Amino acid sequence: MKETDQWKPGEIVPDSGIYACDCGKQHLWSRSTDVRGHRFPPLPYDCQGGAWTLRTQAHPDTE
Ligand SMILES: [Zn+2]
Repeated sequence: MKETDQWKPGEIVPDSGIYACDCGKQHLWSRSTDVRGHRFPPLPYDCQGGAWTLRTQAHPDTE
């Protein structure tokens, strides 16, 4: 399975954590609860980006 590091609105959320858009304006979307099976929300109205990227994992596997 290909591992991706960005997701478009409406795609399945792979894991809980803090997500940031890719427009560079630090629009954040965080989910600390179990989000498996949920979908990413639309990007903010004033956001020029096109996808969400994972900023911080809620439960990192390392350290
Ligand atoms: Zn943005």
